[in-house]
Amino acid sequence: MGKISEGARFGLEPGRIYLDWNATAPLRASAREAWLEAGAVGWANANSLHREGRIAAEFLTRARETFASTTGTSPGEWVFTSGATESIHAAILGCAAARPTRRRIVTSLGEHAVVRSVLAGLEGQGWEIVRVGLGPDGAWSAQEVLDASHPETTGMVSLIWASNETGAVSEVEEVAKELRRRRIPLHLDAVQVPGRIPFGLSVVPATFASLSGHKFGAPKGVGALFIRRAAPWTRWMAGGEQERGRRGGTSNVAGIHSMATALAEAVVADVSAWNPLRDDFESRVLARVPGSHRVGGGVRLPQTSALRFDGVESSALLLRLDDLGIAVSSGSACTSGRTDPSPVLLGMGLTSGQAHQTIRVSFGDGTIPSDLDLLLDRLVQEVPALRGS
Ligand code: PLP
Repeated sequence: MGKISEGARFGLEPGRIYLDWNATAPLRASAREAWLEAGAVGWANANSLHREGRIAAEFLTRARETFASTTGTSPGEWVFTSGATESIHAAILGCAAARPTRRRIVTSLGEHAVVRSVLAGLEGQGWEIVRVGLGPDGAWSAQEVLDASHPETTGMVSLIWASNETGAVSEVEEVAKELRRRRIPLHLDAVQVPGRIPFGLSVVPATFASLSGHKFGAPKGVGALFIRRAAPWTRWMAGGEQERGRRGGTSNVAGIHSMATALAEAVVADVSAWNPLRDDFESRVLARVPGSHRVGGGVRLPQTSALRFDGVESSALLLRLDDLGIAVSSGSACTSGRTDPSPVLLGMGLTSGQAHQTIRVSFGDGTIPSDLDLLLDRLVQEVPALRGS
């Protein structure tokens, strides 16, 4: 695990434990340095022709090269955005606009709210959206996706690679290769992948992939979209001619340089200790907290646990743990605060009541085993207490 230094404990108030890394990760020290460096000397408009502009543009060139070399792609295949929300809009709406006569899009019930809502918008305009179900492990079935994807009718396929809610990792490699053979564009929501499982876009030959910097230790408000060369895609949003005419808006040079630095560090980090740490934590919870269940299974992100406790509302448990100094999540951050059950958990076959009992624990580098020990002790204490209250 990461060193326990002031930096590694990422500015938490004394006594606090942060176990909500799938919502966002703290800024990496290297990313902070890169941010300050580009902010100090690369602050000019990267589209300006003068010397200052060229200095700023050089940071973007280097960032694009880093994205390419870490993912087995070409620098020209990367477009920098304001985050995954924008990347996802750009990928789906840009591809749909480029293939207007193939009005079927195949997706899954495991998608993040952004993908769900962009596709619901297209559905309202007459597109046919086919949503394949999830297994009890939380993964979509490669076979079902392929059975629903016909070259004559299918405009694109949009799938989540690794679930932000359960950590389920689906079989993207097989699907990407087969869809490429069928010449059907594939968009992957890869937001939860970098720094957790291998992220190679030559091994997984998707057409589009969306990323958000803050999930792997860059600042908020910066992301990236991979658009494979010759992909069917037209620009979806009007504006200036930045990003080779593929995205308008003055470039966030410092954020992009910081994000590339974070990506380079994240993809080579040794995370081999995470899987056993998570498995050990889960088995101790199941053994020591009566009426506890693991949600999902199979191949998962190494640092994500979804857990369910009979008779205990996740929001009450979350608030109680927060009072005791521990930050976890009840499902995805984007849906927390709302009372609707998570559609992803319902898609796996949980009842609405069970979905409301599910919490998510997600960790990262800088988490130390005693953080999880303390959470376990709190769960042993608080779950029965909440049942009794
Ligand atoms: N996709 C997934 C799987 C996510 O976890 C998130 C963030 O929670 C997003 C997309 C949206 O990312 P952002 O809010 O950074 O735009």
